[in-house]
Amino acid sequence: MTLIEAAPASPGTKGRRTPRVAIVGAGMSGICAAAKLAAAGVHDVVVYEKADRVGGTWRENTYPGLACDVPSRYYCYTFAPNPDWTHMFPPGHEVQAYLQKVADDLGLRPRIRFGAEIEEAVWTDRATWLVRTRDGEAAEYDFLISAAGVLHHPRMPDIEGLDTFRGAVFHSARWDHRVALDGRRVAVVGTGSTGVQITKALAPRCREYKLFQRTPQWVFPLVNLPYRRPTRWLLHRSPALNRLWGRLAYRFWQRIFENTFCMAVVAPGWQRRLVSTICRWNLRGVRDRGLRERLRPKDLPMCKRMVIAAGFYRALRREGAELVDQPIDHVEPRGIVTADGRLHELDVIVLATGFHAHSYIRPVELVGPGGLRLSEVWQDEPRAYRTVALPGFPNFFLLLGPHSPIGNQSLFTITETQVDYTLRWIERWRAGEFTAATPRREATDRFNAEMRSAYPRTIWVSGCDSWYLGKDGLPALWPWSPQTHRDMLAKLRPDEWHLATSGSI
Ligand code: NAP
Repeated sequence: MTLIEAAPASPGTKGRRTPRVAIVGAGMSGICAAAKLAAAGVHDVVVYEKADRVGGTWRENTYPGLACDVPSRYYCYTFAPNPDWTHMFPPGHEVQAYLQKVADDLGLRPRIRFGAEIEEAVWTDRATWLVRTRDGEAAEYDFLISAAGVLHHPRMPDIEGLDTFRGAVFHSARWDHRVALDGRRVAVVGTGSTGVQITKALAPRCREYKLFQRTPQWVFPLVNLPYRRPTRWLLHRSPALNRLWGRLAYRFWQRIFENTFCMAVVAPGWQRRLVSTICRWNLRGVRDRGLRERLRPKDLPMCKRMVIAAGFYRALRREGAELVDQPIDHVEPRGIVTADGRLHELDVIVLATGFHAHSYIRPVELVGPGGLRLSEVWQDEPRAYRTVALPGFPNFFLLLGPHSPIGNQSLFTITETQVDYTLRWIERWRAGEFTAATPRREATDRFNAEMRSAYPRTIWVSGCDSWYLGKDGLPALWPWSPQTHRDMLAKLRPDEWHLATSGSI
C-alpha cells in the first residue's frame, strides 16, 4: 500500500489552517466542488475519479438522441457561463464538452486522479479520513466530499431468457457503438426520458423499431431553438456580454423551472393544473385514437419524472415503428416474446430501464468513529441532515445526496448551493473553530420527520411507481421549493451539530 500526501494539516496563509480535501467523483458536482475550493484558496485537493475522463453521467451516457431537457443557459455553473451552446436544449455531447472545458479552463485537471476508485474511507483518531483506493493507495484528508452522483448504477431488468438472446443487448448507459443499427430490427425497453429520446433518434433509422412500454409516460412538449453562429461569435468576442447574458438567461430559466415544475410537484395549485393541461393537450396531437389511448398514462403528470421532449409521438407514427404495450413475457434467442405469445424478432435489444438511483456514494464503505458503517446506517433508506451531511460521519459532506431537490430541474444549481454550504464549514475549520463536526442525530431525525409530514401534498405519492420512491414507498426527494433548500442551507446552525474543538469526535 502506498501512502500519498500524508503530511499533517499545515498552517496556511495568515495563520489559517490548510485543509486537505478528498472529493469522490469528477462529474458535475465534483468539478463544482474543486472549482469553488480553488476559488476559496483551498488547493490541497484530490478528486478521485474511477474513469479516465471527467463528466460523470454525461460521460457514461452516449446513446443516440442524448440531450438535456433543461435549458443550456440554466444547465451550467453560475461561475462559468458558456458561449458555445448551440441550442436552447443542448445535445448531450455539448454538456460533456462543457464539463471538460470548465475543468481545463480552471486548471482542475492536475487535481484529478483518473482511474482511481475509492474502496473505503475510515475515520481516524487524528480527526481525518483515511481514504483507500481499490489499487491499495491511501491518503489522509481533513474533509471528504461525496460527489458520486445519482444516476450511475444501471438497472438491468429481470427478464427471463435475456442472456439467451443471440443479437446484441446492452443498457442505454453502456451503449455499444460497435453494433450497427441502421436498417436493422431494434427494440428499446423503457419509456422514461432515455427511452423517449432514443425513440426520436432511432425510429427513423431502423428497418423495424419497437418500443416496449410497461407504463405510459406524460410528455411535456419542447421547442428547441438554435443559438445561431453570430450569437455565439458575439458572446465569444465579449466575455462581459457573455457573463451578463448568461446571468440574465440563468435567472430567467431558473424562475420558469422553479416556479412551475418544482412547485407543481410539491403542492397542488395552478402550476400543477397548467403542466397537466399542457401534457394532455400534447397527447391530443396523436391523431390515431387507438395509439393515443395506449400512450395515455393512468397516473398524474409529474408523478414520475416528467418526460420533456419533442418529436416522440411523431417518431412512433413512422413506418416501421411500433409501440408494444403487451407485457414482456420472456426473451428467446430470436427476440422478445410478449404475454400474448407473439415473438418480436430482433437484431438488437436496448435496455432503457433506468438506474439504481439511491446508492449515492455506495459501494464506497465509510467507517466513522466507533466503527459506524455507512452500509449499515443506510441499510433501510439513505437519510441525511438537510441533504448534505450525516450524523456519525464527521467532516463528511454530500453533494446531490438523499432528498436533494432533483427532478425536472438543473442539478447545477442544487450542487452549487450544497458546495457553498460545505465551504462555509471548511472556512470555520480553517479559522480553527473545530477539528471535527457532525450533525446531531436528533436534528437529522427532526428534519426527516418534517419532510415526511410534507409528502402527502406532493405529487409523487399520488399513485405511481418511480425511481423517486424509496424502499419504504416514501419519496426520496425534497418536498419543498428549491428556495427553501437554499434558505435551509444559508446558515450553518452549529446548535444542530456536535463540534470537537481538539482531536477527534
Ligand atoms: P427511468 O425513468 O427509470 O425509466 C425506466 C423505464 O424502463 C420505465 O419506463 C420503466 O417502466 C421501464 N422498465 C424498467 N424495468 C422494466 C422491465 N423489466 N420491463 C419493462 N420495462 C421496464 O429511466 P431513464 O429513462 O433512464 O431515466 C432515468 C433518469 O435519468 C430520468 O428520470 C432523468 O432524471 C435522467 N435523464 C435525464 C435526461 C435529461 O434530459 N436531463 C435524459 C435522460 C435521462 P415503469 O415505468 O413501468 O417502471
